Amino acid sequence: MLKGIAASPGVALGKVLIKKEETFEIKQETVLNATEEIDKFNAAISQCETELQKICQHTKENIGEEEALIFEAHIMILQDIELLKKVKEMIQTESTNAAYALSQVRDEFISIFEMMEDAYLKERAADIKDVTDRVIRILLGIQTEDLSHLDEHVIIVAKDLTPSDTAQLDKEKVIGFITETGGSTSHSAIMARTLEIPAVVGVKGALENIKDDDFIAYDGDDGCIYVNPDESCINMLKKKQEEYNTFKESLKQLIGQNSISKDEIQVELAANIGTPDDLEGVLKNDAEGIGLYRSEFLYMDRNNLPSEDEQFEAYKKVAEGMENKPVVIRTLDVGGDKEINYLDLPKEMNPFLGYRAIRVCLDRKDIFKTQLRALLRASHYGNIKIMFPMISSVEEIRSAKAILSGCKKELQNENLPFNQNIEVGIMIEIPAAAVISDLLAKEVDFFSIGTNDLIQYTVAVDRMNQSISYLYTPFHPALLRLIKTVIDNGHNQGIWVGMCGEVAGNPDLIPILLGMGLDEFSMSAGSVLKARYIVKNTSQAIMAKKIDDILNLSTAEDVKQYINQLKV
Ligand code: PEP
Ligand code: MG
Repeated sequence: MLKGIAASPGVALGKVLIKKEETFEIKQETVLNATEEIDKFNAAISQCETELQKICQHTKENIGEEEALIFEAHIMILQDIELLKKVKEMIQTESTNAAYALSQVRDEFISIFEMMEDAYLKERAADIKDVTDRVIRILLGIQTEDLSHLDEHVIIVAKDLTPSDTAQLDKEKVIGFITETGGSTSHSAIMARTLEIPAVVGVKGALENIKDDDFIAYDGDDGCIYVNPDESCINMLKKKQEEYNTFKESLKQLIGQNSISKDEIQVELAANIGTPDDLEGVLKNDAEGIGLYRSEFLYMDRNNLPSEDEQFEAYKKVAEGMENKPVVIRTLDVGGDKEINYLDLPKEMNPFLGYRAIRVCLDRKDIFKTQLRALLRASHYGNIKIMFPMISSVEEIRSAKAILSGCKKELQNENLPFNQNIEVGIMIEIPAAAVISDLLAKEVDFFSIGTNDLIQYTVAVDRMNQSISYLYTPFHPALLRLIKTVIDNGHNQGIWVGMCGEVAGNPDLIPILLGMGLDEFSMSAGSVLKARYIVKNTSQAIMAKKIDDILNLSTAEDVKQYINQLKV
């Protein structure tokens, strides 16, 4: 048995597919026969072209013509006479291996493109890297895994899954996934909950102990993984799976009901989404709004920035799909574990403390303005609210709002309709923001507490690092005190306070948050009905009386025990 961090509930039983690591090293080697090496290079180019043509066709049929253009452009790079000529010359004159020659010529080309003024041409550097990497992998005999088209039902086991890997998973065939790295709030874990796929992350030794085609079974709620289990273990987990499914079924009775506490305090139970495709889960689980639309996913898995029109269409689709219910769209929160390769952001020692989110947007105003214009235009079609991530100061809000005002003026001049009174809020996910939330509340229409980051910054624990994950706890008294401060400061200024970090859907903490007066709880869509069940069975007034006691408890363990004793 292996143990990891429970990341997404549900029981999974099935065959393993190991996601192979793709890192490779390109060594310079001397070849004895340059002509043979050139033949090998030509063969790799044509194999790559065939692969790309297949992908292009599949994309055309399943995603769209426009998306397929990327692969057509990649094929054109492969046919670039200048590039091919240079590689062959280098193999010939320096008797060097093809992979090395290609990597050298590629770097030369990339630096030329990167120096170009034109943003479009600049972005072609990422395309060149993509295509040449594909050829190099063929030359080195490294197989690339395509997890988006699988033949059978499998459980993916990987060292790591990036958010974009997770987005590409074949949703029909992937029963679950297990990763060696990551924590319960790394974005692949969050996405698993959105997709309602059972997942365990931070499983030390997973790749050493699990092999392709092994049969594994696990419960995404407790993080215990059984490798090639015996029959009694399989039966035990199947029973758990049945119980889990029965409980989920029973929650469906709550669809269409209000989220009102025992003493009739109404709250809003909303869902977090990453793409317009997640709307289906939001509607199925009867969420009362979208409390967090992580817009950065629109920017991933592609080679260039999404245009204003493309963004407008995505935001409009969500706004219309929610039929006037609130939709909080967060502006680009790139950085941390969410990389966007074509932006070529510098590699940093501490990406979670680095150039990310609003910091990038206030610097790259071109990117920010495009998004704000798209958001404003979409606001005409539903109840959109704009939210800025990673705010640490009043100045940042003022700067962001000034850019927003500029965009409003532009749209007015262009006679394009938008909601003049669109609500603007911020995420409270940095301790500094929580501490000065009385000041920040004067600048905005709402707060949404981002506990995923707030925990990591408050207790100084990287949310992705499984070896210190025992310190990453939402029960830490410091976190609870900060949350209470933020709610009180927001209310004192007359603004509503929500929460879109994973704590909002934590069954143990929902009663406490209710007692603190939280107005909106936004979580994975799959958690909404259970949260409604808890709210309905809790008295806000009774919980409110306990908050002082809870905030004076000394340790996270004491908080947990206090909560457990409330349950009996
Ligand atoms: C958070 O930090 O709590 C949050 C909701 O944002 P993200 O998880 O995308 O960083
Ligand atoms: Mg965050």
